Amino acid sequence: MVNYIILGATGSIGTQALNILRFNNYNLVAFSYGKNTDKAIDIIKEFKPKYVSTNDTLRIKELRSLFPDVVIYEGNVGNNKIASLYKGDAVVINALVGSAGLKPTEIAIKNKNKVLLANKETLVIGGEIIMNLAKENNVEIIPIDSEHSAIYQLLVGHNREEIKRIIITASGGPFRNKEKEELESVSVEDALNHPNWKMGSKITIDSATLMNKGFEVIEAHHLFNLPLDMIDTIIHPESIIHSMVEFKDYSIFAQMGSSDMHLAINYAINGPTHSKCDIIKPLDLTKVSALHFEALDLTKHKLVNLAYEVVKKGSFYPTVLNASNEVAVELFLNKKIKFTDIERIILKEVNSYDHFNIKFTIDNILKLDKNIKEKLRKIYS
Ligand code: MN
Repeated sequence: MVNYIILGATGSIGTQALNILRFNNYNLVAFSYGKNTDKAIDIIKEFKPKYVSTNDTLRIKELRSLFPDVVIYEGNVGNNKIASLYKGDAVVINALVGSAGLKPTEIAIKNKNKVLLANKETLVIGGEIIMNLAKENNVEIIPIDSEHSAIYQLLVGHNREEIKRIIITASGGPFRNKEKEELESVSVEDALNHPNWKMGSKITIDSATLMNKGFEVIEAHHLFNLPLDMIDTIIHPESIIHSMVEFKDYSIFAQMGSSDMHLAINYAINGPTHSKCDIIKPLDLTKVSALHFEALDLTKHKLVNLAYEVVKKGSFYPTVLNASNEVAVELFLNKKIKFTDIERIILKEVNSYDHFNIKFTIDNILKLDKNIKEKLRKIYS
């Protein structure tokens, strides 16, 4: 029996991952979560894990007395601890949000555990190091991101030499048809109202700004080891095609399904078998009737363009991009800045970053990440 570990178990992806584990009757041995202790208590009662890590320090005593047989860890250190408990005999599902996901991924790989990665920031800021580390340790990293899962599925049975390019689809988010001026006044509630996908608040804002699509370009670049000129994006408002691969004979393969993350999670857990999973919503194509495509304009969507730029510049540039985005999204969600300020803050930070001669390591990435976040929080809060 495989031992499953979920980092970020009470969030949107974590909850759906638990649904897949429950459906398959799989074994959850450990999980971490943030502050939702009520939900965590239900998870412990149902799955009976051996280890739990919490950020809810106020309720840690209560948790320990409720479950004396469960080892309870605390805080971000707890995430690292949870990721290091098993050596090669666990599968770690990383559903954390933001740069907090990087270190636990590194630890899981060093302990030779397979990683199912929903935390795309891991690859955005540390892709080069993480992919090399995975290779050295002979560890697989399987994406839990609908686009990358699609490409992963489409590439089974094919080799890299056959690929002409991959085409990442983008819904365009809730503001696809809005003019630049109209975006100045959109509210948090408008931005959280994604037309196709129900997700956590951070990624929903990233989808509205299209930063998410930029991140996904970087994620694909590392995950599939493809140069940027083989990675294209296309607007596809229906989100039915989750992404495509064009081969050298110009045959284009698309993976379709309902907008349901259970599909990508189930494939990450059970793939390459397309195993039965009744909780995934079936897709009725007769109800869809038409699929639309349009070019994603990189002059209009500056954050997607910036994602390509930071990869070309390399080293710490993606870290600057990600850290400034994380803070800008947080400020917007707390109603401290306007929607359009998110793009402004990120562009300003990335364009003013001076590349110093610092060794590109995970610890230095996290140091810079922390410095930028502290600086920006001070300026804008
Ligand atoms: Mn995605």
